[in-house]
Amino acid sequence: MAKEKVLVLGGGFGGVKAALELADDSRFAVTLLSEDTDLRYYPTLYHTATGGRLANSSLPLSRIFEGKAVKIVQGSAETVDRKAKTVATKDGQTYDYDSLIIGLGVVTNYFGIPGLAEYSYSIKSQSEVQRLKKHLHQQLADERQPDLHYVIIGGGPTGIELAGALPGYLKQIIRNHGIKDRKVHIDLIEALPRLLPLLPKKVSKAVRRRMAKLGIRLYLGKAVEGQSADELTVSGKPIRSHTVIWTAGVTNHPFFKENNFALMARGKAGVDTYLRADENIFVIGDNANTPFSGLAQTALHDGEFVAQNLRRRAGGKGFRSYVAKQPVTVIPAGPRWASVIWGRLNFNGRTGWLLREAADLTGFHDLEPWPKAARQFMTEFSPEDDCPTCATATN
Ligand SMILES: Cc1cc2nc3c(=O)[nH]c(=O)nc-3n(C[C@H](O)[C@H](O)[C@H](O)COP(=O)(O)OP(=O)(O)OC[C@H]3O[C@@H](n4cnc5c(N)ncnc54)[C@H](O)[C@@H]3O)c2cc1C
Repeated sequence: MAKEKVLVLGGGFGGVKAALELADDSRFAVTLLSEDTDLRYYPTLYHTATGGRLANSSLPLSRIFEGKAVKIVQGSAETVDRKAKTVATKDGQTYDYDSLIIGLGVVTNYFGIPGLAEYSYSIKSQSEVQRLKKHLHQQLADERQPDLHYVIIGGGPTGIELAGALPGYLKQIIRNHGIKDRKVHIDLIEALPRLLPLLPKKVSKAVRRRMAKLGIRLYLGKAVEGQSADELTVSGKPIRSHTVIWTAGVTNHPFFKENNFALMARGKAGVDTYLRADENIFVIGDNANTPFSGLAQTALHDGEFVAQNLRRRAGGKGFRSYVAKQPVTVIPAGPRWASVIWGRLNFNGRTGWLLREAADLTGFHDLEPWPKAARQFMTEFSPEDDCPTCATATN
């Protein structure tokens, strides 16, 4: 009997999970098409950006699928032809499918604020993280000229994680290079009146106290209006800085608009109760309009859900309906401290930090067997820097 051809677009959390779930089922021929050769493990990117290893936030797809019956192809999906059941890539390749699973993730959105795309830094990919690290070293080690302000825009989880880790990293570079008497100022800007505006108020309060303890200056309810080479304009006032890091906005992948998907809130694709956007086209993770879209845990859940339904159908059973899974949120903020929101529970501090460590370990295990997941987890504990002075000092 002919195998069902499953084409998965996107080698992120959702796409990889779906492909893994189908890999060992001989009824399917699975192809995974992704722009990257690695899965970006976003939750630890902030750590890589502040002295951690690149390997800590990057899992090679070839390693994840070692020995698995999944064809991995590198390419950029551009168009879908629903009648012909094919997907074409930017470089003109065409892939056909019986079932298509799409998990392309989101892209950075500067909301049209002038200058940000040109002058700000970001931590959404390994190359962006490396660019930021290089810049910090250039200022501190080569020019011996720390910035007046290190500015992080966005008081959501990514902004908080980075604000918590950046002071320690800057101090480390300063110490390693023997730069004397330099204090660093870190500013965190949020357009809404409180940090973590999507989470309960008590969480915002606890994290606000933690930021104050770490010496982070907060600008709440302040809107960023523009950036030039030397300064940022915030609610009409200038902040002099050459280091502005944008963590405040993303929007859905342009693939959906360009291919006439029905778009819902925040540009996400509308899906039915089986996460189907069209006949035999499933949308998962950040791309799908589901209650907890925007989290790695949701993408993993979605990938697994769609794969299980395809297996049910191949076995002559009907599809099950989607049930959204409330995620546990863990937000680290500086050394050995994290805020945890688990249903109605909220606790902060070292216990939260330990839980975050456990979450990373199990997160890696969602993608790889225990020995590989444990080795991946251990990469957290060995720092890495291109700068030879810092590399020698920290190893
Ligand atoms: C800095 C940061 C920190 C985060 N921290 C956390 C956290 O602590 N906990 C949490 O739960 N969530 C966190 N998230 C959110 C989480 O990472 C996402 O929700 C999750 O990655 C979504 O998974 P996905 O499969 O939908 O997309 P992604 O994981 O983004 O994967 C998309 C894949 O599609 C590929 N791709 C893109 N365009 C194309 C194309 N045209 N053709 C082919 N392939 C393409 C990409 O290369 C990528 O491999 C964080 C996000 C960021 C940016």
